[in-house]
Parts: sequence; C-alpha cells; structure tokens
Amino acid sequence: MKTLDQAQVKGKTVLVRVDFNVPMKDGVITDDRRIVQSLETIEELLDKGGKVVLLSHLGRPKGEAREEFSLKPVAEKLAELLGREVQFLKDDKVVSDQVKTWVGELKEGEVALLENTRFNPGEEKNEDDFGKNLASLGDIYVNDAFGTCHRAHASNVGLASRLPSYLGRLIEKELKAFQPILEDPQRPYLAILGGAKVSDKIGILNHLIDQVDGLVVVGAMAFTFLKAMGLETGHSLVEEDKLDLARDLMEKIADREIEFILPVDVVVAKELKEGIASKVVPIEEIDKDLAGFDIGPETVKRIALSVSKAATVVWNGPAGAFETKPFDKGTEGIAQALAESKAFTVIGGGDSAAAIQELGLEDKMDHISTGGGASLELLEGKDLPGIVAVERS
Ligand code: ADP
Ligand code: MG
Repeated sequence: MKTLDQAQVKGKTVLVRVDFNVPMKDGVITDDRRIVQSLETIEELLDKGGKVVLLSHLGRPKGEAREEFSLKPVAEKLAELLGREVQFLKDDKVVSDQVKTWVGELKEGEVALLENTRFNPGEEKNEDDFGKNLASLGDIYVNDAFGTCHRAHASNVGLASRLPSYLGRLIEKELKAFQPILEDPQRPYLAILGGAKVSDKIGILNHLIDQVDGLVVVGAMAFTFLKAMGLETGHSLVEEDKLDLARDLMEKIADREIEFILPVDVVVAKELKEGIASKVVPIEEIDKDLAGFDIGPETVKRIALSVSKAATVVWNGPAGAFETKPFDKGTEGIAQALAESKAFTVIGGGDSAAAIQELGLEDKMDHISTGGGASLELLEGKDLPGIVAVERS
C-alpha cells in the first residue's frame, strides 16, 4: 500500500483529494463528520511542512458553477476545525492562472481549498485538459476520498496518473478494514444484506455467496426472494423481473450448503407512514392488501443467534424502512446484535451507516465505511479505479 509513510512532503505542494461532500441546508453544513474525518491526513501533511491544496466535489452541480454548491462554507468550517487559516481559492473553473498564482504563494504549513471540482465539466469525464491543469498546481498527490474511489474522475484517477501519488490515512484505514475480509476472513463469516432493491445488490450477492459461511437477506429485497418461493407478499416491494434471479441464487446457496436466513416473520401495514397501525405476521400470512416494511422479532432473534456465533460480520443495507417508525426495530435489532458481538464487524452502505449513527452505536463497530458505493464495489470483489491509479503511480 502506498501510504503517507512513503511520501516526501517537506516543501512540496501536495494536492489532496478529500471528501467534503457534506449535507447542507440553506448554505449551512448540517453534518460536518466528513470534514472531521479528513483532519488526520491534512494535519499530518501540514506538520510535515507540506503546502496543502485540497480538492473535493460537493453535490451534483453537473459541470456548472452554481453558488449553492460552492465549497466556501466548507472552507470556513475547516478553518474552525483546524484552528488555522484556510485560503479559499474561489474560481468558477476551479483552476486558472489566478489560482496557479495563489497556489504558488503558499508557504510550508499553509492550506488552501479549491472550488468544487464538479463546477468543471472535465471532472466527471476525467478530461485530459482538466487533469493536466490540476496536476500543474502540485508536486505530489494524495487521495483520501474513499467515497469516490469507484469512479474515475480527473481529481482522482486524472491526478494519480500524472503525479507521484499516495493514499491518505482515511483510505488506508478503509483498506485495512476490508483487506482481511476480502483476502482471508476469520470464520464463521456472516454477511447480512438488506436495503431497497435486489437489482442494486446482485453483484454483491453473487460474489459473497462464494465467500461466506452464512448469508442473511432482509429489507425490501427479501420480499423478492419470498415471492420467488411462492409466498403471497401483498404489495411489498417486489422486483418481478428478478424472481428468476432470486431462484437461481437460492439454488446456488443450497449447493454451497451455507447457512441461509430469510425473514420468518415481518411487520406489515397498509402504507409506509409514520406511526401507522402495523402488526407482526409469519411470512405465510401476509395479507394481500398489506405490505411488509420490516422484519419481525423472531427473525431478529435468529439473526442475533447467527451473529453471536460469527467471527466476521459484514452488514450492508437496513432490515426495513427504518427512517419511518415503527419500521426501525429490525434494523435496530441487527445493530444491537452486532454491537454485542465479539466478531470483526464491518458496515458498508450509506443508509446502514446512517442507521448505526442514529442509534449511537458507531463506537461498537470495528469499521463503518465512509463510502457507500465504493464499499459495495469492494465487497463485490472489484478493484477501485481511484486506488489502482495511486498504486500504479
Ligand atoms: P444502503 O445505502 O445501506 O446500501 P439501500 O440504499 O440499499 O441501503 O437501501 C436503503 C433503503 O431501503 C432505505 O431507504 C429503506 O427505507 C429501504 N427499505 C428497506 N426495507 C424496506 C421495506 N421493507 N420496504 C420499503 N423500503 C425498505
Ligand atoms: Mg442507500
């Protein structure tokens, strides 16, 4: 792994891709966690005498400079968190002669932030011109934005292919958590997959079936499996065009002789609405007019038992529509089981991570990935372009 341990930083202009894609409302940052998580790398580079130039995207401005996506509020927040001045190099094209001059004036131990990289249409297309222009600003490159590593953009792949490059401390932490799982997991190895759609998780299902000792399928996704088994699922979310796939997957699972857990009971209601009347029913008794929005307590019990015997647990995707009460209980039950387990526990996926944070159980997990899509692709067994490019540089 090419980490900051190998980088010669003193006196160099270091371009650092961070993930400052924070949630904002009316120009105010509503959750600064991503900025906080980037501090370790930034502080280390400043302490080592680097001239630090930060790059990030924010939201989806689609290649245009749009004020509501400006990183200016982030620069202010970062200054507050670092306790040092942060120069915001405002430029609608992100890089220009003016920006080059500003960067040229930076001194050792000073830090600047460029404008939202996605203001430039070259970013998401990884265009040569934009990549070259960005690269001309610095001597070395550090990628610390795990959440975009599954994409090949100018600010990651474009820069890593032009400058000597290193992985930042945050990405290093992500890879150190995932590597043992991908290469040689402690067994029994249990995967819990949930969330909205089978179609989002085909890759991960297919890949994990060959790796794990046990597989749990929950969330809306489980109803496609239940229907494929011939059960009535009412108007639960079912992907009709994935029924055959679900059957194939279940055959494959049976061949592998791994433990397989589907819901045995579910929480049903008329519609997905806060505080609506709901009841727990066995999966054989789902009313035609109702829909399942969560797993039931018996299912939680079975999952908890399996978790208690596991040495490695990977969890991706909530067990129910947890944003809407009372359909948060299944997700909470799984989170509690993981919190109590001695297994090495890794959470991937944006919504599952959010659920654990809401429950205040972050500290009980071994690793909560900062990258939803990127962690999914790792668990699918794919290489991430943003990381491969650094390793090759
Ligand atoms: P992650 O981001 O962790 O990978 P997904 O994006 O795949 O998870 O799925 C999360 C979404 O799935 C949540 O918005 C949740 O409300 C929804 N969901 C889970 N179970 C159900 C269900 N039974 N019915 C409707 N929506 C569900
Ligand atoms: Mg999601």
